[in-house]
Formats: sequence, C-alpha cells, structure tokens
Amino acid sequence: MKDEFEFIESITPRQTDQASLVKGIGDDAAVYRGSDEYDEVICVDTMVEGVHFRRDTLTPFQIGKKALAINVSDLAAMGAQPIYYIVSVAASADWKQEELEDVYKGMFDLAQEYKMDLIGGDTVSTPDTLVLTVTVIGRVERNRAVYRHTAKPGDVVFITGYAGRSAAGLDLLFEKGVNGSFSLEEQKLVKAHQEPQPHVKAGRILCQTGVRVSLNDVSDGVASEANELAEASNVRIHIDARHIPIDEAMSSYSREQQLEYVFFGGEDFVLIGTVKEEDFSKVEEFFKEEGLFITKIGHVLSGEGVYLKEENQLTRLEKKGYNHFQKRG
Ligand code: ADP
Ligand code: MG
Repeated sequence: MKDEFEFIESITPRQTDQASLVKGIGDDAAVYRGSDEYDEVICVDTMVEGVHFRRDTLTPFQIGKKALAINVSDLAAMGAQPIYYIVSVAASADWKQEELEDVYKGMFDLAQEYKMDLIGGDTVSTPDTLVLTVTVIGRVERNRAVYRHTAKPGDVVFITGYAGRSAAGLDLLFEKGVNGSFSLEEQKLVKAHQEPQPHVKAGRILCQTGVRVSLNDVSDGVASEANELAEASNVRIHIDARHIPIDEAMSSYSREQQLEYVFFGGEDFVLIGTVKEEDFSKVEEFFKEEGLFITKIGHVLSGEGVYLKEENQLTRLEKKGYNHFQKRG
C-alpha cells in the first residue's frame, strides 16, 4: 500500500443501510443517533511499537496515556464529550504484566479527567511488538457534532494552541535519549510529545457556541490537517505565517525549523478550524472566559489547496504530514 488516503477512499462503502447513521467514514469520528437528546460519537486508533512509539522514548504509563489521548482528541474535534473506552492489547512475551498494568494506569490517569469508563477490550499475543488499539465513545447534543466539511469562503482559520512542539520534543528525545539533560524549554517540548493534552474543552465550547464551525485535530501537522479541511469543504485556505503562534520554548529554533515542525510535525492534538469572520470575536470571548487559547491564523477563500502567505508570497502547503505509507518530508 502506498497511500493511506487512497486506500481509505477505495474501501469506503458507496452506500450505507442504517438510518441512524449521521456521519460515517470521512471525519475524525463517526456519528450516529443515540437518544432524542444526544448523538453518539465513536472512533478507533492504533499505536504500534516501533511505528508510533518506542520503549526508549515513552514509559509504559505514557504509552497508555497517549493512546487514549489521541483518540479523545478525535472526539474533541467533533465537539463531543468523551464517556467510554475499550482497549485491545496485543503484546509480546517480553512485555511484563506490571508494564501492561502501567499502560492501563496511564489511560486511567487521562480517563479520570473526563470521567470516562473502561468498558471492555481484548487481550492477545503478538510475536514481537505491542499493538494498542483504543476505541472511544463520546456524545454530543443532537445535530451539534462539528465536522470538517462545513468551512466556507469568508471564514477565518483558527488554531487552539501551539503546534510543532511534539515533533520538536521527539527530535530532542532521539538526539539526547530519554535520560538526557534537557533545559527547561526542552523539557516542555519533550513533555508535549510524551503527554499531549487533547483539547476537549475547546471542542465543547466550539460546539456549544451555536455558530457554524468546521474542525479537525492536529495529529499529522498543520499542513495535512488544513488540507483535510480544505478538501472536505471544497475551499482554499491561506495561512498567514506571521500569525502562527510559536511556543516560546521553541524560540531558539530558526524560523524555518519552527515552521517545519508546525506544518509537517504532528501529534500536537490542538484543534484547527474555521468560523465566520464576524463570529470569531464571540468565540474568542468564550475561550477567554474559560482561560483557553484561540488565535486566528488564516482565511478561507473559494478554490482549492492550502497556501502559506509570507511577505506577500504564496507557497502551496502539500498534504504531506505523517502519512503511514509514505516517507516523511
Ligand atoms: P484521523 O487522523 O482523524 O484519526 P484518519 O485519517 O485515520 O483520521 O481516517 C480518516 C477517516 O477514514 C476516518 O473517518 C476513519 O474512520 C476512516 N478510516 C481510516 N482507516 C480505515 C479503515 N481501515 N477502514 C475503514 N475506515 C477507515
Ligand atoms: Mg483526527
């Protein structure tokens, strides 16, 4: 298989039978009717040892916490409140029971923040690696799920936090090893990689404002996620380089390196989305009231593609974040 997106397209059913289905393949999570009050939101993500993590960059506790966080982030990108999780563990013999228990402690640590319950799973063995598959279930007020396909020309593009930190942290871990000596700034970046915080509260606010919002979470870098928004909504996106927030922990990096991490890094799990220009100040007010961050980084136009605007120059940003069947870069 060469391209993950092409593969998904090829296996997507042309037709579905269940009348309760609201949104199937094509967004961060699927949505179907639950009760009169709520729609159910569900998604699954897998973390594979040697592909998504290595034992020398994450502790078992962090592996568990991150496996749940990446799933919860997809719920956040739908505006949903997480409620349940189900875990399949496929482990090789060299994983000790205590280590696997620590993986679960990591998941529990994050689950507690949202009062999520572990309600099932599966346990099997593999020849050599740990494969952790987590399904999460959430809910959102009926008809209020937030999608990727609702951006319109005239919208502003926003982001709910700093992107690029996780990729910078991973490079530091590769460079110095997990027990290396890190400055305070570097520790912050390493932590952003090891224990990312999903933006559930931000997703909930965006869902509850009642204004039209489009939304995606940043798992594969801002370039890839902005392209997903643009493609799903059939619009063009301009991102203004001057407005991209950069964590001061990255201030010693060159401008080029900062932008490389922001656009082509990944695993930051902040949210990127769009809202009508005149609604932005209202949304910003809600975020301020909750002590949360949101900032404008661009505009939506008609057309297609994602472009970076820098000193009146436009550069196309390709959808080349971390795609599992293509080399990065
Ligand atoms: P995300 O990065 O938000 O987790 P993905 O890019 O992994 O989303 O997936 C995009 C869409 O394709 C989602 O709706 C997901 O459920 C669906 N999808 C991905 N892989 C498969 C698969 N193997 N079979 C069916 N649907 C899939
Ligand atoms: Mg996602």
